[in-house]
Amino acid sequence: MEKITKALVNENIDEFRQLFLKLHPYDRAKFYVEQSPEVRKRMYYYLSPGEMAEIFDHLDIEEDEYKTYLSEMDPSFIAQMLAQMYADNAVDVLNELDKKEAASYLTMMGDEAAKEIKDLLHYKEYTAGSIMTTEYIAIHANQTVRSAMQILKKEALHAETIYYIYVINEHKQLVGVLSLRELIVSDDDQMIHDIMNDQVVSVLVDEDQEDVARKMKDYDFLALPVVDAANHLLGIITVDDIVDVISEEASDDYSKLAGVADVDIQRSPLDAAKKRLPWLIILLFLGMVTANLISRFEETLQKIAILAVFIPLIAGMSGNTGTQSLAVAVRRIAMGDFSKESKWKMIVREALTGVIIGATCGSVIMVVVYIWKHELFLGLLVGVALFATLTVATVAGALIPLIMYRLRIDPAVASGPFITTINDIISILIYFGLATMFMNYLL
Ligand code: ATP
Ligand code: MG
Repeated sequence: MEKITKALVNENIDEFRQLFLKLHPYDRAKFYVEQSPEVRKRMYYYLSPGEMAEIFDHLDIEEDEYKTYLSEMDPSFIAQMLAQMYADNAVDVLNELDKKEAASYLTMMGDEAAKEIKDLLHYKEYTAGSIMTTEYIAIHANQTVRSAMQILKKEALHAETIYYIYVINEHKQLVGVLSLRELIVSDDDQMIHDIMNDQVVSVLVDEDQEDVARKMKDYDFLALPVVDAANHLLGIITVDDIVDVISEEASDDYSKLAGVADVDIQRSPLDAAKKRLPWLIILLFLGMVTANLISRFEETLQKIAILAVFIPLIAGMSGNTGTQSLAVAVRRIAMGDFSKESKWKMIVREALTGVIIGATCGSVIMVVVYIWKHELFLGLLVGVALFATLTVATVAGALIPLIMYRLRIDPAVASGPFITTINDIISILIYFGLATMFMNYLL
């Protein structure tokens, strides 16, 4: 890397190109991103649009950062670069620009590339269409393996993957699929329609990208064909794009669980605070509900001040166990496993888990409190309250995301902080309710 930087600084084009182009495109992209704008501008002079396209195909940046990089380049250079990128990646870049700018690049590039990109630009974000690419290999059924191999050889360089060869009829409808392995091991004179698989698994162009990821995972394919409602082959989605989808969706769910709109690792403190504050303010008021509840038990608390000592323990523990079962439920929902039966099974299982957890923690705390304070009834109260609280909290953690899902609210949205606060309220009610009921024994 140092050598490359040095060659760049010394304006030694040949050495720079020789060293730089030896790197894997991902490493080239990493190097590119780490440079200052001035150095990057020099790179544009030293590299061809095609070579820059390879870098952009591998850039691992926030989508709104494309704009910054493009602003350093010459418009016609950008157009040529976009034309040579994989169409699906070029669409990702163009989607970040305003319509006018995107259109101007499209007019500057060749018709063929422009058409391919334009076709993809129509599809809504987060659908199969938005992540597919049109660089696939398709052949007809009534030809021999030999002639199919010739087509494959001709198109291999420009296809995103050559591992699956899709078979279409004269109307461009998807009728079969072959793996490269199957093609290679067949006799040259065999007909494609005799060796192809005609039970093709495909996804609809407007299907959600999460569903595509699930299908890819379930069937273990390296690529899936994308079709429209009339089964016309429109494109393919390869597993590398699905890996991105999965990590995108996971970090999405994760940040929602924590009540942050999106993962704000790169934002300024002010921006980050703005994103997180709305939920915190709502939770602040929910916290006031808890405070108000406690103040209603003021009389009990005054008579038995020691009760206050265990509030954080009971509320905290119910939050912890609720978050645990919540994680299980959200994961379940994200995996698409929500048939009626499995829902009930999950709730019953969580309830039993809650009983076991509650009984264990309750017994432990009972003994600890008795040894510590030498008060049998106090130990009993804290133990029973913890038992009841943990059982209820565990069920709540599983139930609330399911209810949210039913109400068509994304269960991952802030159910984390929400559960914690709900469980606070439940635990305070149980704890002080029990204490007030059995006050006579405690005094
Ligand atoms: P195997 O693992 O069985 O040896 P393979 O390694 O050649 O096969 P895989 O990627 O494992 O290829 O694909 C398994 C089979 O699935 C292949 O026969 C392939 O033709 C078929 N196939 C690929 N894509 C699809 C699809 N979309 N729908 C149905 N079948 C498909
Ligand atoms: Mg295989």
